[in-house]
Amino acid sequence: MITVDDVHKHFGGFHAVDGATLEIVEGSITGLIGPNGAGKTTLFNVIAGVLEPTSGRVTMSGEDITGLPPHTLFHKGLLRTFQIAHEFRSMTCRENLMMVPGDQSGERLWNTWFGRRRIAEEERALRAKADEVLEFLTIEHLADQRADEVSGGQKKLLELGRTMMVGAKIVFLDEVGAGVNRTLLNTIGDAIIRLNKERNYTFVVIEHDMDFIDKLCDPVICMAEGKVLAQGSLAEIKANEQVIEAYLGT
Ligand code: ADP
Repeated sequence: MITVDDVHKHFGGFHAVDGATLEIVEGSITGLIGPNGAGKTTLFNVIAGVLEPTSGRVTMSGEDITGLPPHTLFHKGLLRTFQIAHEFRSMTCRENLMMVPGDQSGERLWNTWFGRRRIAEEERALRAKADEVLEFLTIEHLADQRADEVSGGQKKLLELGRTMMVGAKIVFLDEVGAGVNRTLLNTIGDAIIRLNKERNYTFVVIEHDMDFIDKLCDPVICMAEGKVLAQGSLAEIKANEQVIEAYLGT
């Protein structure tokens, strides 16, 4: 589904991504692991259009998407989750979902008085969709709660919910488990598995929690020093000598 071919990303003289080559298979939940500073987030940002690569090529279903901006990739169904922006935090969880850019008429400036009824109908549909997403994620009780009042794990679920508002095909998740308690981490893991199985989402997940990776991810890709060291099942990765060396060396 996604191919990354010899991608480099340099910051000045520093090679954060240094010739990464990999493939993300459609329908997989792929784990991306590696020691701190391995270049995982930078590579994510290159694939998701947040950063332009210094060189190399990224394709999605055979189409060259190298350097395309996030909003273009968004419409192709490729999303990277982000923390909820400051200006959205005082809105409720439902409103946060309803704010995900779509193609509703309400957004178009040229909409006239004649469009009002249609806008109201679309808003109702959008609200129903947001409620369905909240229910899927088992956080329907948070619908009217402000986004800045929910826990870290619930915010992660909300971030995941935003991808469901636009029917994503492939979602890049960066450190889902950071600061999230075990119970919520399981809820997040279950939501990812269900989205994968029931709605054909492909996921790429950066995560340090090996239990989480073990439960969810196959294959697992290990990066170190800007390069891909190994790809395979977690058991294969753990037995790989280059991987062991990379982790021990940090
Ligand atoms: P990981 O996600 O694997 O921990 P990162 O992709 O965040 O690694 O970082 C890889 C390296 O690139 C790190 O040494 C980091 O300091 C460096 N780096 C990341 N972003 C920038 C930037 N904008 N400018 C300079 N160096 C950066």
